[in-house]
Amino acid sequence: MDTPLDPASTSAYEDVRTAPCRALATEAVHAGREDLARQGLHAPPIDLSTTYPSYDSRAEAARIDAFAADGAELDGPPVYGRLGNPTVARFETALARLEGTESAVAFASGMAALSAVLLVRSALGLRHVVAVRPLYGCSDHLLTAGLLGSEVTWTDPAGIADALRPDTGLVMVETPANPTLAEVDLRAVAHACGSVPLLADNTFATPVLQRPAEQGARLVLHSATKYLGGHGDVMAGVVACDEELAGRLRQVRFATGGVLHPLAGYLLLRGLSTLPVRVRAASATAAQLAARLAADPRVARVHYPRIGGAMVAFEVHGDPHAVIGAVRLITPAVSLGSVDTLIQHPASISHRIVDAEDRRGAGVSDRLLRMSVGLEDVDDLWSDLDRALGRGRTETPDVKGLHEALN
Ligand SMILES: *Cc1c(COP(=O)(O)O)cnc(C)c1O
Repeated sequence: MDTPLDPASTSAYEDVRTAPCRALATEAVHAGREDLARQGLHAPPIDLSTTYPSYDSRAEAARIDAFAADGAELDGPPVYGRLGNPTVARFETALARLEGTESAVAFASGMAALSAVLLVRSALGLRHVVAVRPLYGCSDHLLTAGLLGSEVTWTDPAGIADALRPDTGLVMVETPANPTLAEVDLRAVAHACGSVPLLADNTFATPVLQRPAEQGARLVLHSATKYLGGHGDVMAGVVACDEELAGRLRQVRFATGGVLHPLAGYLLLRGLSTLPVRVRAASATAAQLAARLAADPRVARVHYPRIGGAMVAFEVHGDPHAVIGAVRLITPAVSLGSVDTLIQHPASISHRIVDAEDRRGAGVSDRLLRMSVGLEDVDDLWSDLDRALGRGRTETPDVKGLHEALN
């Protein structure tokens, strides 16, 4: 196990197995790149191939048979782009390292990743899902509408054990949850799940703040569109899990086609290298803004998780739409996890697709605003918020106000 690195070795995988356990910040910049120096490279190459030549079709047949049997990553070139991609594989290796799982499987979006998980389970006849609200609006919708043939039972964490049925294939939670930042005790929930796999959506916390696999989650889902990419310019999803489930997920990805583009894989790998720095810096700012909001009489309630993080949610006494209309430095937009600060009104945008009664029942008030704090200066962000809150009772900014804001 503790063989020193052999600089003459040609196997990148050998390095991964023999490398000593390293800190998250170190993994973030090195994982998935172990073979580069040996190849004489510094930045990872982007492989845009959709197909891979081979003069030995008997060998290709054997490799395809092997993939059909267990979904293990192909040894050598991937045959065809839907079976795998070396650039995407670098990102998968790195994310698995950060989450502390055997494997990770990347998809075209967070929703494609969740769909693949549901398909893997329902293919075994395990169509029933137990889930805790709130979840991201579209995840809630996918389960509630039964679009993939699944059936959902909504419960609170204490009700999970009683909600399990013989055909339950999955328990799903988000912590901190989108958009209220409600937290779930993953260890307790994992215990309640028994042998049913627990999926934890770790999009908000990222492996920098929380590693759900260490607390018993068998599947860790990310909308990589958010913090992992980190710059608002790549859409992706990923599931970190054990190799057995990863094999099934690769088979579903191959058969249904929700693959991640290699350019996106490159951007995600690059994003991971600054993930710990970005998340820690933005979280420190978010904690300060949460404290200022909590002390502000214009704000009725602030939601900021114990675990910390760069997301803040708050309920205003005034009109939340007016706050959205009045921000000038902060961008009024859905999504999160970028370098710049975004704010949105969940009842109108991210959770609009959830039935109003279910939404309110999950604690998503019509006065709730969700803010994803970026890397700007905390005082600049506060002045923008302060000014926007001051207008909480006017409808839209007037022209004079707009001039003031721009100057
Ligand atoms: C955005 C989001 C998703 C969906 O991911 P996409 O990449 O938009 O498909 C899932 N879960 C959470 C918590 C999210 O914020």
